Amino acid sequence: HAKSLGKNNYQYYNEELSINIHDQLKIEQALKQAISGDELYLNYQAQYDLRTKEVISFEALVRWDSKKIGFTPPNIFIPVAEDTGMIVEIGDFIFEKACSDFKKFKQINKKLQYIAINISTIQFRDKHFVSKIKEIIKKIDILPSQIELEITERYIMEFNETNMLILDELRALGFRMSIDDFGTGYSSMNYLTKLPIDIIKVDKSFVDGIPKDNNNMQISKAIIALSKSLGYRTVAEGIETKEQEEILLSLNCNIGQGYFFSKPLDYDNTIEFLNKKKFKIATT
Ligand code: C2E
Ligand code: MG
Ligand code: MG
Ligand code: MG
Repeated sequence: HAKSLGKNNYQYYNEELSINIHDQLKIEQALKQAISGDELYLNYQAQYDLRTKEVISFEALVRWDSKKIGFTPPNIFIPVAEDTGMIVEIGDFIFEKACSDFKKFKQINKKLQYIAINISTIQFRDKHFVSKIKEIIKKIDILPSQIELEITERYIMEFNETNMLILDELRALGFRMSIDDFGTGYSSMNYLTKLPIDIIKVDKSFVDGIPKDNNNMQISKAIIALSKSLGYRTVAEGIETKEQEEILLSLNCNIGQGYFFSKPLDYDNTIEFLNKKKFKIATT
């Protein structure tokens, strides 16, 4: 996987680089039956409006319980799926499932605004990507504005012209576009103003340092201010404490996500969560 990542960002792939060739092959073999064997499913993590404390959306997070190699987290198998091209089929599956589940969530809580779906840029190499997702949302009867597509900053940095055109096209169709893991990929400020995006997600590594690490505090503050000044909304990922939530709110961060509010839940638990009608979480 490291090969395809380009020049200067190997340090962020430690976790993935630690997979040896043997494991890589084992994962690859096992992954072939992930869809047909019904081994993939989605978890949903709530995203909160920090001001009103209301759930406004969920992020879909894929899970793989392999019959061959056991439970394997996305940080491990997504890179393999990308290397082998299997991410195209897996990504289609995730997209369709997330959209149809969101329709059901929305029936329970009308206030839900959108479903956030992680997209790998490798999916952009599929020349039918845009037409396929248009077809899926038409079939399911859900609007592009009800879908947020998350793309990590590392990928966006390496975008070629074709990738940028696809990004433009998706935005023009009305999808909400967000940059995931922001701050880890060194995108230039100039680049940032030109991207067709709506949301910036402050990487968890910065949130982790709040409040103890002053550098992380200042970086979070700067990212939120920059995002706001460019007219984007900001999401903070990985909020684990009340203190982090309060500080991020005071820094004008719009949306929060993290264990402090809610862990990723499977479909049944998400339905239960929504049925409790506890749309508004008391965080005091
Ligand atoms: P991500 O999109 O940045 O997702 C956030 C990750 O942080 C998730 O890990 C989530 O479970 C975890 N997280 C959320 N809140 C907290 C918290 O308060 N504390 C801690 N310690 N962790 C928290 P997960 O589900 O293991 O996913 C890891 C990464 O794998 C994702 O990062 C994303 O890049 C990728 N991924 C997950 N699902 C998909 C998918 O459906 N498609 C693609 N292409 N990538 C996916
Ligand atoms: Mg994400
Ligand atoms: Mg992230
Ligand atoms: Mg991440």
